[in-house]
Amino acid sequence: MSEPACPICAKPAVDRYKPFCSKRCADVDLSRWLKGSYAIPGSATEDPDDEPARPETGPNSEE
Ligand SMILES: [Zn+2]
Repeated sequence: MSEPACPICAKPAVDRYKPFCSKRCADVDLSRWLKGSYAIPGSATEDPDDEPARPETGPNSEE
């Protein structure tokens, strides 16, 4: 029989702070989650001026 363990420190979880062992671990997990949600890799580095200049073949010649 396996008891639920705190995902932060792997100690046995406490009913009051499930699935964490303490409020501190719950706060740690929450801060991690918040950081991850607004620090999405890739999207922040996108720059509108970074588009590669495409050579135009013609000014709407084919339409
Ligand atoms: Zn813990």
